[in-house]
Amino acid sequence: MKLLEGKVAIITGSGRGIGKAMAELFASEGAAITVNDIDADVCKATAEELKKNGFKAIACKADVTKDEDVKKMVEDTVKAFGTVDILVNNAGITKDAMIHKMDDKLFNFILDVNLLGTIMCSKYVIPIMKEKQYGKIVNTASVTGLMGNIGQTNYAAAKGGVIGFTKGLARELGLSKICVNCYGPGFIETRLTAVKADGGDRSALGMPKGIHDTAIAAIPFGRAGQPEDVARVALFFSSFLSDYITGEVISVSGGQLV
Ligand code: NAP
Repeated sequence: MKLLEGKVAIITGSGRGIGKAMAELFASEGAAITVNDIDADVCKATAEELKKNGFKAIACKADVTKDEDVKKMVEDTVKAFGTVDILVNNAGITKDAMIHKMDDKLFNFILDVNLLGTIMCSKYVIPIMKEKQYGKIVNTASVTGLMGNIGQTNYAAAKGGVIGFTKGLARELGLSKICVNCYGPGFIETRLTAVKADGGDRSALGMPKGIHDTAIAAIPFGRAGQPEDVARVALFFSSFLSDYITGEVISVSGGQLV
């Protein structure tokens, strides 16, 4: 039995990284997928790959912080597949700096993509899910949102906000049988955690080797997580296996946060 047979899922930021692993897993479990990314080429390539493997998928380039983009992404999904059953708010980004060196633009940008994007996408699928009296909204926090991290006050505020949003929305949508849950990845191997040159631009993606190695050393499992480790938790929250769970946060951190 496939866990998502006949379901329709929008996965934001699924052109690459954790979101792409989710798109592949969800498709193999029977879901039709809207592959979203801010980069048109990247989301098209992932959607094409899924289709080549015999799965149902469309590519939707959209910036999750832009109202018009998100509205169109949801409309295109309904046009292609008839409905939306699952939304995974995965799109997210880091831009690190110590607070005294972080300008407001950088702070707000991280809040916009990680938190506002999650709120915006949820807003547009909720009416569809309410009408059906069924839906799964799965949000992406981070262990940083639960325990903080040096140089990431912007990201911690955004991901902490995602957790609060999840809990509030879960209460609001309980009677509509819409589950709203959240997972917090720890240190997962993607370009966000890839080693970059020491002394480079601190706000660029990736991290210096010293910080990378220290982070790995702090994980009881002794290794970074893989995108698939996170995708399986998102699958749990997206399937009937979690039908009586809402407002929860699960860390996917190899024991980094216990
Ligand atoms: P990733 O490889 O950079 O993938 C994120 C994807 O989101 C990228 O394809 C990116 O597009 C897309 N994106 C960025 N801004 C967007 C926007 N405004 N609208 C639509 N798409 C947008 O990162 P990842 O490591 O897979 O992270 C996925 C999620 O997990 C994020 O929410 C992240 O905060 C969270 N997370 C990751 C880790 C980790 O260790 N990797 C840990 C904790 C939490 P572009 O490539 O074009 O920018």
